[in-house]
Amino acid sequence: MDNADWRRRDLDVLWHPCSQMKDHEDTIPMIPIQRGEGVWLEDFDGNRYIDAISSWWVNLFGHANPHINRRLREQADTLEHVILAGLTHPAATRLAEQLVALTPPGLDRVFYADSGSAAVEVALKMSFHYWRNRGRRKSRFACLSGSYHGETLGALSVSDVGLYRDTYAPLLLEPLVVPSPDAFDRAPGSSWAEHAERRFADMERALAEHHQDLCAVIVEPLVQCAGGMRMYDPVYLERLRKACDHYEVHLIADEIAVGFGRTGTLFACEQAGISPDFMCLSKGLTGGYLPLSAVLTGDEVYQSFYDDYATLKAFLHSHSYTGNALCCAAALAVLELFVASDVLGENRRRAERMRRAVEPLEAHPNVGEIRQTGMILAMEMVGDDRRPYPWQERRGIRVYRHALERGALLRPLGNVVYFMPPYVIGDEEIDRLGEVAISGIEEATGRRL
Ligand code: PMP
Repeated sequence: MDNADWRRRDLDVLWHPCSQMKDHEDTIPMIPIQRGEGVWLEDFDGNRYIDAISSWWVNLFGHANPHINRRLREQADTLEHVILAGLTHPAATRLAEQLVALTPPGLDRVFYADSGSAAVEVALKMSFHYWRNRGRRKSRFACLSGSYHGETLGALSVSDVGLYRDTYAPLLLEPLVVPSPDAFDRAPGSSWAEHAERRFADMERALAEHHQDLCAVIVEPLVQCAGGMRMYDPVYLERLRKACDHYEVHLIADEIAVGFGRTGTLFACEQAGISPDFMCLSKGLTGGYLPLSAVLTGDEVYQSFYDDYATLKAFLHSHSYTGNALCCAAALAVLELFVASDVLGENRRRAERMRRAVEPLEAHPNVGEIRQTGMILAMEMVGDDRRPYPWQERRGIRVYRHALERGALLRPLGNVVYFMPPYVIGDEEIDRLGEVAISGIEEATGRRL
C-alpha cells in the first residue's frame, strides 16, 4: 500500500479535524504517515518530513521516544485503566504529586480531564461553582481578543478567533472580550513591556466595571497560539494577578499550549512570578502521546467544595477516561525526561539557532515581524501596505505545500508561519527549517530576498 492507496481509502470514510474536506481534492494533499521517529515523520512513499509544529504542539521529546515507549509498555502490562471515582492508582497519584511540586506555589490540587478543551470546561465550571459555594452570584468570564481556549461550547465561548467561533455564536456564553496586549499592535518605537502596560488600562477598566459579575479572567500566558502566535510581555500577567486579587476575580492560566517549556521556562507564568487560581495543562503533558489534561488549583477553592454530599457543593464533573493510567504513565515518563538532562538550557541554544536560521527574513518587505518567545518562533507575512494579507488569499497554504515538497511539516496559521518543534530537534534540522521557511515565504509572497 502506498500513499495513493491510503489516501483513497481515507477520503472514502474519514472526516478530518479543522479541515474543509473539499480542499483535499486539489489544494491540500493528504499525507498518510506510516511511522515517526524523533522529529521525523515518514509517509508510505518513503518521503520524510520534519515535524516543525510538534503535531499540533503536543510532541516534546520526539515521535516513538524509547523512554516513553518503555514506560507505556510497563504500565500496559500492569493496569491500563480504572475508574477514578472511588478508586485510584499509583500513576495518577504520583503524577499529581509531581505537578503540584513543579507548578507555581499555591497550586496544590489536581483534577484530571482528557483534552485541553475539557480542562478549560473544568476550570470555568469550578470557578463559577466556587463563587456559588461562597454565596456569590457571578456568571460571566473575561478573555482577551484573539484568544483560543478550545472547541467545546464553554471553551469556544471564551475564544475570540472568528473563524472557529462565529458560526456557533448563537449557542455560546457571551464573555467580556478585552483588547489583547499582543505586541504586534504596538506603536512604533514602544517596547513590548510599555505596550503591555498601556493595554492593561483596558483590563483594569473592565475589571473595575464588571467585577461583581465576573467569575474569572482566562488568558493564554505570554503567547496566544491559535490566534496567530501573538506574544506579549510578562508584566501584563503581573498586573493582572494583582488586579484579579483586588477585584476578587479568579485568574485562569491556560498553559495547555505554552506549558512544559515552550516559552523558555517550564511554565509561562513563572516569567511573571505569578500563581494563577487555576492552571490548565494538556498537550505536552504526555509528550504528545495520549490525551490527558489537568486543572490545578489551590486549597481555598478545594475547601469551598468540601462539605456533606447533600449540600450540592461537590464538583460532580467527570469524563470516562479521567486519570487514565496509560496517559499518566506517559506523563510521568515525560517528567523523567525533563530531569534526565538540562532540557530548558539546551532549548535556549536551540531557540537562538532558530532565530538565526530565519534572520535573513528581517530584510524581507513582506515579513511584518519575526517574533519569538522561547521555543516558539513566528514570522508574519504582510502585504505591501504592511497589513496582513486578506485571509481568503491563503498565503499560508502556499508555504505549507512548498514545505511538504521539501521535507518539512509547517502548518501556518493564516499569514503566520511558525516553528514550535519537539525538543529533540538538531542543528541541521533547524537550519533546514530556516531554509524551507525562507524559500516558502518568498514563493508565497511572490518576492525574493
Ligand atoms: N487551549 C489552548 C491554549 C490551546 O492551544 C488548545 C488547543 N490548540 C486548547 C486549549 C484545546 O485543547 P484540545 O485541542 O486538546 O481540546
